[in-house]
Amino acid sequence: MLYLDTRDKNFKVDFKSAVMGGMNAATGGLYVPESFPKIEFEKFSENPDFRKVAFEMISPYVGDEIPESDLRRLIDDAYPFDPRLEKIDDKSYVLELFHGPTCAFKDFGARFMARAMSYFNRGSEGRLHILVATSGDTGSAVGSAFHNVEGLDVTILYPEGKISPLQEKQLSTFTGNVRALRVKGTFDDCQKLVKTAFTDSSLRNKFRLSSANSINISRLLPQSFYYAHAALQARRENPGKKIIAVVPSGNFGNLTSGLIAREMGAPIEGFVATTNSNHTIPDWIATSRYEPRPSVETFANAMDVGAPSNYERISYMYSLEEVRKLFASFWLDNDGIISAIRECHEKCSYTIDPHGAVAYKAWQEIVAGGLSKISRDADIKKPGLTPNVPDWADCVSDCVGMILETASPAKFGQTVKLATGKEPALPERLERVMELPDNSVPMENDYGKFSAWLEENLH
Ligand SMILES: *Cc1c(COP(=O)(O)O)cnc(C)c1O
Repeated sequence: MLYLDTRDKNFKVDFKSAVMGGMNAATGGLYVPESFPKIEFEKFSENPDFRKVAFEMISPYVGDEIPESDLRRLIDDAYPFDPRLEKIDDKSYVLELFHGPTCAFKDFGARFMARAMSYFNRGSEGRLHILVATSGDTGSAVGSAFHNVEGLDVTILYPEGKISPLQEKQLSTFTGNVRALRVKGTFDDCQKLVKTAFTDSSLRNKFRLSSANSINISRLLPQSFYYAHAALQARRENPGKKIIAVVPSGNFGNLTSGLIAREMGAPIEGFVATTNSNHTIPDWIATSRYEPRPSVETFANAMDVGAPSNYERISYMYSLEEVRKLFASFWLDNDGIISAIRECHEKCSYTIDPHGAVAYKAWQEIVAGGLSKISRDADIKKPGLTPNVPDWADCVSDCVGMILETASPAKFGQTVKLATGKEPALPERLERVMELPDNSVPMENDYGKFSAWLEENLH
């Protein structure tokens, strides 16, 4: 399989180069597979193992660059946990993606990427050093995914005092090959230090540096596995019904993975693209104008993205007209998030996190007939469904919704408590993290000091 650059149609790379390079630095373009091979999903047994589906789906993208037995081992090692599909009412499922080590869906992408990078790095001289700036959840997924992975070191930079105590524990308690620097500055300062290091030739001459960016195709492809696996289960339980995936989105990586699963033949009829008050994509669908903007802070903070990076892939893969046929779209403000968590708790006895709550509310509005009431000149500055009617709108009564639950509600206990009056219990693996000692290293917001630390500590 070759990977095409979204900005230069003559530029193609193999899987290894796409994984190790992340993007085409010369053009700033992202990689997209040149085709999406169809899988005969019918051939799977009644209740296929997740790793079996994963292996079948990833194989064509890897080709002969990783031998079959190594690839099977890699998949098994990446996924000692499963996605779980829970029915919450007649027409709705919640697809729980938080049963991995950091209790958020990013584990699915990050753990595959870490192992693919380690595989391609083996036999090369010296270690590969991953630098990552984080405002919270990405860092813990990446740190955890690379922890004890052969040949790789990770340095995480996070803004001191600007992430939650639980998030900080999830970043700062690693030992061995994953280290965290708590920077006296903002997330943007952290990002700037990392970017400066990547362009520092004296550093690059001594060390092999890489990023673990969310735009890496090896984080996107594995997220397609759970869409297909869950859609097969939903179809089995609802013969003749169509399946709609409802996706709480920030950078739209998760939704792009859903599109990949659908292209490969997974039984998904359409999507609902949902956001918090950062509604750049819903506005694009409504107005045809893509206007990236600074992000605003919300309760669903992992979706606080004003310039979604995967817009570039989605608009490369589809025309706006195709997007409008495939997607309903919706956004919700902070008040709406709180009342959605409460409503889900009261109506379905299900405790949902602030991110999943956005998708829950969108699907409830659609089931209640929201798409047939849409007015073309609705005010897009008000939360709710975007004035767009997808092709599947007239068969909503024959659909079931798959609401993607991207994080455990326990990670957002305070917000959930605001809505339900009760803080969810921490899963055991998070409780354990809270008890570990903090190993983070203090760091000034100063490139000279940061590079000196790298010189001293990278090997
Ligand atoms: C990252 C994240 C999202 C957004 O996913 P994208 O792929 O960026 O759209 C949603 N929910 C949670 C909990 C996340 O960590």
